[in-house]
Amino acid sequence: MTLWQRILSKSITGAKQIAQTFDINIEDIKRVIRKYPMRINPYYLSLIKKKGDPIYKQAIPDIREIQDDRGIDDPLNEEEMSPVPGLTHKYPDRVLLLVSSQCFMYCRFCNRKRKVGDPNAVNMKTIQEGISYIKANKDIREVLISGGDPLFLTDKQLYQILTQLKSISHVEIIRIGTRAPCTFPQRITKRLANMLSRFHPLYIIIHFNHPNEITYEASIACSRLANVGIPLASQTVLLKGVNDDSDTIKTLMRRLVSIRVRPYYLFYPDYVKGTAHFWVSIKKGLDIMKSLYGYVSGLCIPYFAIDLVGGGGKIPLLPNYVKEKKKDKWIIKNYKGKIFEFTLL
Ligand SMILES: *Cc1c(COP(=O)(O)O)cnc(C)c1O
Ligand code: SF4
Repeated sequence: MTLWQRILSKSITGAKQIAQTFDINIEDIKRVIRKYPMRINPYYLSLIKKKGDPIYKQAIPDIREIQDDRGIDDPLNEEEMSPVPGLTHKYPDRVLLLVSSQCFMYCRFCNRKRKVGDPNAVNMKTIQEGISYIKANKDIREVLISGGDPLFLTDKQLYQILTQLKSISHVEIIRIGTRAPCTFPQRITKRLANMLSRFHPLYIIIHFNHPNEITYEASIACSRLANVGIPLASQTVLLKGVNDDSDTIKTLMRRLVSIRVRPYYLFYPDYVKGTAHFWVSIKKGLDIMKSLYGYVSGLCIPYFAIDLVGGGGKIPLLPNYVKEKKKDKWIIKNYKGKIFEFTLL
């Protein structure tokens, strides 16, 4: 076992310890994790400062996951847009390839809640079928490797998958989507970073949701990846009680930039069954975006996007700054609310 595997093996996956630590009804936890798995690794657990804080809410099962039946198992229609199991082909030039169904921490709000932790959802056979599909489709320029968490695989398994993708001439870019630098930075070893650097152009999109996740350990993990030339970006899910206020998002985005991670998306939460207690309004998201534009560096501003129910794709939503479009001029409000007339020449 490697060091990270040893640390990970000390994760909490059973109800008893969590019930005792946080004084929760053990039966409630048992019922939730029978349906949706739990894994809380020692590192992410150490970020919880008190019961109910934003880190706690992301990691600790909540009875509402099984009591509130609003939502849909697969709102983004990933299964229907899946020509082979574990691969989703939604956009013309890029595909999503699932290579692992496991994660270092099972986020309670996950949009693949229906699938994560299920060892049958992804295996060597589905991955090989996915790679064959990519080989046969010359329109695919970019492969987005996701899961579960792709970095849950061993270095060797990842290396084999990346080598196969790299050998396909029409695949120009590989992108890995992972939460490891945030939820389990111990996974980002120098050895892993060096191995990944052999597959440029390779991008890594991390998933950070709260400023408390930007720790010394996370910054070291990101440095290791950035230092071998891997461009880093982050996506954040807007979640009630976790990060649904301007100050939290502003701080998070600034800290991300300071550890060389460029904010990419801020997602309106998907209507996934079992996650309704995390939903926020679109207005809230737009108000938060208004508090960013002009007030923080453009580098700190993500796209606020909604992933359409039914598989329509990610659509950016913008606060409305154009008040009126006349024939020869537009009436535009600036970020401070001051009105300007912009004459069209
Ligand atoms: C999010 C997603 C992508 C990537 O979309 P970008 O806007 O390029 O980040 C590709 N395929 C699927 C199925 C996705 O859900
Ligand atoms: S790491 Fe990603 S895939 Fe895994 S549970 Fe969290 S949100 Fe879902």
